[in-house]
Amino acid sequence: MVSKKAIRETCDFDVIVVGAGVAGLYQLYKLLKLQLRVLVLEAGSDVGGTWYWNRYPGARFDSESWSYGYSFSEELLQEWSWPEHFAAQPDTLRYLNYVADKFDLRKNIKFNNRVEMAHFNETSNRWMIKTEAGEEYTSVLMVTALGPLSAFTLPNIPGRDTFKGDAFHTARWPHDPVDFSGKRVGIIGTGACAIQTIQTIAKEVGSLTVFQRTPNWAAPLNNSKITDEEQKKIKASFPDIFKRCKETVACFIHDPDPRSALEVTPEERDEFWEQRYLEPGFGIWIGNFKDILTNQKANDLASEFAAKKIKQRVNDPEIADLLIPKNHGFGTRRLPLETGYYEVYNQANVTLIDINKTPIECINENGIKTSEEEFQFDLLIYATGFDGVTGPYDRIDIKGKEGRCLKEEWTTFPRTLFGMQVDGYPNMLMILGPHTARGNIPRNIEEVVEWQTDLISFMMENEFDRVEPDSAAVDDWINTVSKASEGLLSSKIASWQTGVNRNVEGRSAPRVLGYNGGAVRYRKIIDSVATREYQEFLFSQIGK
Ligand code: NAP
Repeated sequence: MVSKKAIRETCDFDVIVVGAGVAGLYQLYKLLKLQLRVLVLEAGSDVGGTWYWNRYPGARFDSESWSYGYSFSEELLQEWSWPEHFAAQPDTLRYLNYVADKFDLRKNIKFNNRVEMAHFNETSNRWMIKTEAGEEYTSVLMVTALGPLSAFTLPNIPGRDTFKGDAFHTARWPHDPVDFSGKRVGIIGTGACAIQTIQTIAKEVGSLTVFQRTPNWAAPLNNSKITDEEQKKIKASFPDIFKRCKETVACFIHDPDPRSALEVTPEERDEFWEQRYLEPGFGIWIGNFKDILTNQKANDLASEFAAKKIKQRVNDPEIADLLIPKNHGFGTRRLPLETGYYEVYNQANVTLIDINKTPIECINENGIKTSEEEFQFDLLIYATGFDGVTGPYDRIDIKGKEGRCLKEEWTTFPRTLFGMQVDGYPNMLMILGPHTARGNIPRNIEEVVEWQTDLISFMMENEFDRVEPDSAAVDDWINTVSKASEGLLSSKIASWQTGVNRNVEGRSAPRVLGYNGGAVRYRKIIDSVATREYQEFLFSQIGK
């Protein structure tokens, strides 16, 4: 396909990758190894994706740092030293810059070029891609490395643009440091980004007012610095670490305890949860009893334990009660990990406002007006989240065969094969599109990138220049994805993972947006498809 001289002469690139985050960088690296002509178009002014945009105070991993980095280069693994078990955003951004420089990736990336349009031309089997900067390119393949959480959303509150002070969304945080000292700060949202921001700035601000609509369950991160001794041990153990990640349900080092929460005594259960609460990372969520996310009774008990912890940590019982979620059980939304978050509400300069009781009426030039009170702020923070998974695709005008519009077709339910390709949209390869397995993201990314790269090699060997999933295979996959979500308590809960975002029209009902059958099963399925030479896909060559 793409290696043929005649084809090369009729388009600008063999592959255009959209996005230079964790996924885009690795995809670029792999495609350069195939000696293809590759261009990466990136909206930001530098590499990093999520870690480039989300510079808000306190932003850091919830994955163990040493299980998050790329696994493909032993040299890189040995050269790079993570300073903490859960690295802060500046370290991660430094790491991704290091990777881009080490493997000389920047020369293929055009920064400040947000893709606004991608149309497939059926006669030539080419993608025609246009950026907001007005640049236009053609390519045989388009790989979307958009990130599931890149389409940030602002609240639709009247008067939002009238506020005279500084106002930042956590995903568009300024590059220069923000001075909080003595400032009156208001923050809307209490998700993972808000929790990290709140616990970090509460120490510096003059006053902090938190506007909460839905409380989230959160548990301690239990982070620490990596000692020299630990560093040596980690560097010697990478094969075991990545082997472990390959064996677990979400590619973390944690995996569910094989026991039911209901088969142990109350004392054993409590002791187990107390232990998990003190351990670093997602053990309390992913390493919990096997049924806390499928059995309502088990989940109720886990929620009771987490509520008890909040009550122990927050002095005022009324505030503690406000911080305890009532509309979803423990772990049924992606669990934020925290460091001293609950204790922040014991500080005299921090106020929690329940906007269900006293709704925000408007934002004005001085601050926020609720039904009860007017708050004056120097700084407003929107920690109001993202239009998850499909949002980044909706923001690009993507058209496939016969002028089909992806955004319109995905309004109700996205159609994908393995979350990697869409019928009707030939030569569009997605990294972590809807219906992939998602957990420890770089592990999922490496897997998909390697699989798609093998598929591209297959096309080169066979001189194909067009690939599209078979519609019957897509139907089967959607069925598999839906079945895999049956019985999961999280499936009916509103969150970005189920595609709910009340700031976006038409995003009020939960949808299945991920493959929930586990990473091990996902890998088995896609590997068997590769072994059988991709029978679920239709390949062709121009003119044939
Ligand atoms: P989020 O979890 O979706 O939280 C958004 C918050 O804003 C929610 O509390 C939401 O309330 C509130 N909100 C939205 N619109 C509002 C409005 N109009 N009025 C009042 N409140 C409003 O988003 P996020 O905090 O950005 O986190 C998203 C995901 O990013 C996380 O789940 C996680 O996967 C990822 N993340 C990862 C890390 C890490 O690895 N360390 C750190 C941060 C984030 P409702 O719930 O009522 O809608």
